[in-house]
Amino acid sequence: MPWSFSFPTASANVIKRLRRPSNDITLPDDRPMKILQGTGISAGVVIARASLTFERPLPVIESLPSPLTAEAESARLDQAIALTLKQLKKLRGKLSGLPDEGRIEIDAMLTVYEHMLSHSRLVRAAHRRLNEDGLTAEAAVQLESDILAAQAGPQPGMPEEEIEGARRREGEFREVARRLLRNLTGVSFRAFSDIPGGSILVAEQIRPADAAVIDPNRIAAVLSEGGGATDHTAIMLRALNVPAVLAVPNLTDLVEEGSLLIVDGSSGQVVISPDSATLAEARSAMAEEAKERKGIGRLRRLPSRMVSGEDIELLANIELTNELPLLHRNGATGIGLLRTEFLFDETEPLPDEDGQYEAYAELVADMQGMTTTIRVLDWGGEKGLARLRQLGIHDEAEEENPALGVRGLRLLLRHPEILEAQLCAILRASVEGNCRILLPMISSVNEVIAARQIYERCARRLRRRGVKLSGELPPLGIMIETPAAALTVGALVRQADFFALGTNDLTMYTLAVDRSAAMGSELYTALHPSLLKLLRLSVDEALRSHRPICVCGEMAADPRSVALLIGMGLRSFSMSAASIPAVKRMIRSLSIEACDDLYRRAILVEDPIELTKLVRNFAS
Ligand code: PEP
Ligand code: MG
Repeated sequence: MPWSFSFPTASANVIKRLRRPSNDITLPDDRPMKILQGTGISAGVVIARASLTFERPLPVIESLPSPLTAEAESARLDQAIALTLKQLKKLRGKLSGLPDEGRIEIDAMLTVYEHMLSHSRLVRAAHRRLNEDGLTAEAAVQLESDILAAQAGPQPGMPEEEIEGARRREGEFREVARRLLRNLTGVSFRAFSDIPGGSILVAEQIRPADAAVIDPNRIAAVLSEGGGATDHTAIMLRALNVPAVLAVPNLTDLVEEGSLLIVDGSSGQVVISPDSATLAEARSAMAEEAKERKGIGRLRRLPSRMVSGEDIELLANIELTNELPLLHRNGATGIGLLRTEFLFDETEPLPDEDGQYEAYAELVADMQGMTTTIRVLDWGGEKGLARLRQLGIHDEAEEENPALGVRGLRLLLRHPEILEAQLCAILRASVEGNCRILLPMISSVNEVIAARQIYERCARRLRRRGVKLSGELPPLGIMIETPAAALTVGALVRQADFFALGTNDLTMYTLAVDRSAAMGSELYTALHPSLLKLLRLSVDEALRSHRPICVCGEMAADPRSVALLIGMGLRSFSMSAASIPAVKRMIRSLSIEACDDLYRRAILVEDPIELTKLVRNFAS
């Protein structure tokens, strides 16, 4: 069947470029190949034909006085608000068919829009304009949304880490206003339903609300000229698992309706009218991906067992609850590290004990009895500085070198009310499943003693409030991520119920190399003899005193390093959920003898470059 396409919203120059496309993706186009580079935000290689979509522009809205009475304009505005809320409700109704990740993201976004339409500053201010300045409803909404968006958006001198949040808030005001204005002016929304199934959606800009109506079963991939790797649209497309590349320069000028395209959502490359050789390459990449997906599906059901019979625990590190579906899909048997400093949106106030309790309880219940390790807030370093400023904690936020300053538990002990609210919330949630609590950035035993006293005080207070807690409190463990902790592990073991080896910071603090700086990054390696010595001290002590110990730094995501660590005596690893299949595959091919042998050879090596070579060449 030939493609059917309709272009009710195309501008004149687009219509000029329209040509009858072929739906055949096996034959190259008879035009020269072009390669564009954008930002790959959602993985997957796709070969399909382009379908361009353009937004119908809104009429220019001028702030002229309304010919109607203020009451009549008010009534129009209320009607438009009611209609917009109805449309959002309809959109929400469509979410049930989406994968969990997408549903959670979009649901949260719709809630924000709904709040903005209910007695919000925007609505109140627009009504005031109608009454006081006699404007039309359109003009009032346009004017007030522009003011609020400009106030919410990035400001001169704003710290880098706050800019993204500010941009998002600005976008939210503009999006809600756009929806209201479409309803006031009667200019319809863009619909993706007329796009031929299986094609690549090509747009100048995809807004989060547009992403919400993309059907991942119909649209092969998404390309846009605007957007960035971490904006809401990107997060949503990733969550929907639609291969996507955003920020592709000149995209809509160069792509024609029906052009044959190759999209690589990982590298961000877009090929227009690929030649036969490039098409063949893309096809084999797609076949590879399909094989990989099948393999992962099969692997998930297989135990993480070595050929010599030892079981190795594979847990996931997570930051947001929308990572849970991937965690389950990739067969993690628990959470080894929940970084709570990322869990709550920094543009909103930090939830109080009740608010945090709800978030933890939902997560713990979702884990259905599997280990759920919740780390208390690890603010400081490069994390949570905007939140610290928001809470008025300026000294710590403005430290000259926050990585070496009052970070993690050190900071929480100086602000015990924050730690107490969090511990109470976690304790209350712990009855929903199998929780452990983890303390970050420990450098001496008195910190753990102080935290344990607070922990026990929180439990007593909750019991007095009538909260039912289990007889035995959840284990309280510590991160070993400073050389000081690794070197005094003998004292720490008496205060800590379990250990988590944070190789990311341990590497940084041991080698004195910034983990997030580009300069000097070649010096940053966990495969360094000094690291092995510190890890070994911790592992030996944990094994001697029967304390569970797990590696939750990035080292655990590297299959060959895992082989080395198994040789050291470790049996539990926590990593990003996406890394689990590759690590499991390696584990299932290993014998304990081979790991022991690798480790025995590794501890004799004095040169980090030689150590890296030894581990990289293992089992290859
Ligand atoms: C670590 O330091 O290894 C770790 C897991 O903690 P984070 O990466 O959150 O600092
Ligand atoms: Mg750390």
